[in-house]
Amino acid sequence: MLSSHNGGAASTTVVPNLACNLCGSREATVVGTRSRSGAALRSVCCVHCGLVWADPRPVESRRFYEHDYRVAYKGTFAPRPKHVLRAGRVALSRWAHVQPLLQQRARVLDVGSGGGEFAYLLQARGHEVRGVEPNRGYAEFSAAQYGLAVQRGFIDEVALPADHFDLVTVWHVLEHTDDPAQVLLRLRAALRPGGTLVVEVPNIEATCQSPASTFHEAHVYSFSAATLRRTAEKTGLQVDRLTLSADGGNLTALLRRPLAPSEAPATLHIAGEHDRIVALLRGHRPWRHLMTVHPYRRLAGRLMRALHERWQTRRKLAPRALLDRLYGKAPAPPQRLPLWPLLLVASAVAVALEWLMLDRQDAVLTPVQGTLAYVALDAGLVAAVAWVARDQLATLRRQALAVWGLAVVALPAYC
Ligand SMILES: [Zn+2]
Repeated sequence: MLSSHNGGAASTTVVPNLACNLCGSREATVVGTRSRSGAALRSVCCVHCGLVWADPRPVESRRFYEHDYRVAYKGTFAPRPKHVLRAGRVALSRWAHVQPLLQQRARVLDVGSGGGEFAYLLQARGHEVRGVEPNRGYAEFSAAQYGLAVQRGFIDEVALPADHFDLVTVWHVLEHTDDPAQVLLRLRAALRPGGTLVVEVPNIEATCQSPASTFHEAHVYSFSAATLRRTAEKTGLQVDRLTLSADGGNLTALLRRPLAPSEAPATLHIAGEHDRIVALLRGHRPWRHLMTVHPYRRLAGRLMRALHERWQTRRKLAPRALLDRLYGKAPAPPQRLPLWPLLLVASAVAVALEWLMLDRQDAVLTPVQGTLAYVALDAGLVAAVAWVARDQLATLRRQALAVWGLAVVALPAYC
């Protein structure tokens, strides 16, 4: 079957294994054949609404999320301090989206709570938070580290109370689910009438990433602003706001459960969306991407982030202490003076004293008086250094300081 859907360029229409999750159609065109890792992954775009999905479904996703997700993403099961810090900073940016909705103590559900950084931020701000997380490593870590209530399981399986939550957040989860429309329906039912659902997904229209990185095995569905909006409307949610991140990479939707049931949209088809998405994906070419500012800004951003993370995690803080400091819960530790430069300066002062007191005192002091004065001043110097650096002296350093002090005070013995 051949049909024209791309401004004159012929696209082959295929019958996908899965019907479109938004409009139910079984007519799509192929828009990708490789994942970002280079593995075979067919991605299709619905001819009638423009929704994009991986077809056939790429992996046995359940087992992957339950056990392997963290390993596949980060190479470890226990998050390293830099990952906690990174996720904490993301949590703060997410907080900016939800803060206006949280004027009073609220009941919040965080779906796909991951390492727990965002849920912990909400809890630290006084809200009643529950997390849902399928990965065992994440769930156990966040419960143990932050004292969070985390229900382990997939969002389409866990039991949720009806009409309960003031706010439900779903950060980068919907694109991983087998049935996004069904997930939104479940979450809508868990919201109290008038409650808000915040959904963030990667934007299929984004061109800030390399074209080779557009499709990912773990992303079953890819949304545009229009397909996300229509999916929400289909499930009876009212779209309050739809925003793009600064780089265009993420879509954040504020969806409200209306007080009275809303009418279903007249049609689930979105005119022109398929052609627009296909043209956009085809136009996103490596050479064109290299001529934009994005790859270089991304590289510089990563470099700055790596340096910042290295600096911020130079002291071995526990994850909770790291987040408390980031979230402003614990006061920043007092600025500590670097010990070794301090000792160098103090040594120079000691040598100067020795020169002044022992070599030039002949006219004023006897040798014994000079030595005593030198020892007294130097002992004072050693005590001053120890006092200034008192709260950063690990045992080993204290011994080193003692050796240095003895040497300085005993210097006259060599002269
Ligand atoms: Zn469709």
